[in-house]
Amino acid sequence: MTLQYQGACFCKKVKFELEDEPLFTQYCHCNKCREIASLSDRTEDKVGYSFTAAYFKDKFKITLGSNLLKKQARNTADLFLCSACNSLIYGISQDPSKQAAIGINANNIMFSDGVFPLSFKANKHIWYQDRIGDINDDLPKYKDAPIEQFGSGQLWENNKL
Ligand SMILES: [Zn+2]
Ligand SMILES: [Zn+2]
Repeated sequence: MTLQYQGACFCKKVKFELEDEPLFTQYCHCNKCREIASLSDRTEDKVGYSFTAAYFKDKFKITLGSNLLKKQARNTADLFLCSACNSLIYGISQDPSKQAAIGINANNIMFSDGVFPLSFKANKHIWYQDRIGDINDDLPKYKDAPIEQFGSGQLWENNKL
């Protein structure tokens, strides 16, 4: 395994390692993400939407505190939080056929200079219909999710026509 990044929850009791760059990153505005984030001790988790890095499951390894992970089932996903600081570590689909890739809370990934590298530039907003505030950027905004992420594929802009 070629270590690319290390990460830790807010209280540092859960640590993990990532191999390679993310498949993509995205912002999710769904109520589930917001509800889970509201529990977190990490301020960055509570901006109203989640920032998730998609990784193949086998590129992700918990290196400390796996016994502290607390599972929260929401809709079709299982979300794993640190039971001490409640920061989301990762989420995985409950459907075995959709478990190749997982979503990792990018706020917990540590970078040497403290800023997100270009490989972490988000490629879209999803569940924009549930947002609590408008976002002014050039990224595509999906009403729910793209088809390849098991959504309708509808863009929010299309919805207003
Ligand atoms: Zn923690
Ligand atoms: Zn979400």
